[in-house]
Amino acid sequence: MRRLVLASNNPGKLREFGALLAPLGFDVVTQGELGIPEAEEPFATFVENALAKARHASRLAGLPALADDSGICVQALDGAPGVYSARYAQMAGQARSDTANNAYLVSQLAGKLNRHAYYYCVLVFVRHAEDPCPIIAEGVWHGEVVDAPRGAGGFGYDPHFLLPALGKTAAELPPEEKNRVSHRAQALRALVARLQAEAAERPLR
Ligand code: IMP
Repeated sequence: MRRLVLASNNPGKLREFGALLAPLGFDVVTQGELGIPEAEEPFATFVENALAKARHASRLAGLPALADDSGICVQALDGAPGVYSARYAQMAGQARSDTANNAYLVSQLAGKLNRHAYYYCVLVFVRHAEDPCPIIAEGVWHGEVVDAPRGAGGFGYDPHFLLPALGKTAAELPPEEKNRVSHRAQALRALVARLQAEAAERPLR
């Protein structure tokens, strides 16, 4: 097994990534377990932030690294809140919470007919800190922002994220279903496919 550092301290992500990457020969540890502090995320795009986090973890651990970044992009708001999804309301001087973010998002969409939005997730894998060809895998999950929250599952913007084809918000989906179809699930599947192809064609050292 090769050790891989995950540029996150989220136990849920460790479980999910660890289970998917073990069959590929990776033993996943979090950067926190290695005493690595969180990286800055100063950029305006998800991919730049994920790449910065992956390089930072890889440099300090001396190991291959995986980082993710995700958020919601709303068409009528030119893609906002985007990389600022976790602190959308806070940036407007309000609380840093899911409730405040959702209320602020709904207020920004008042009177707008275009409700299209998508969740986006990017995963970046670097073989080493200076890797010139990181593996970048994306997932996009389309939906619409609704004013009235529905459902008790999920987190973040899920109660306001309607999936028109299913007639449900992401917070109304059973967790297994969300984990099968979400932006994160799509990105993970794409990453695993890329790593499998790489292992078949060009084994890592
Ligand atoms: P992170 O990439 O896990 O830090 O997520 C960034 C932010 O995007 C979260 O704090 C949420 O506000 C939002 N977000 C990302 N994925 C989801 C999701 O699956 N449901 C709801 N909100 C999400």
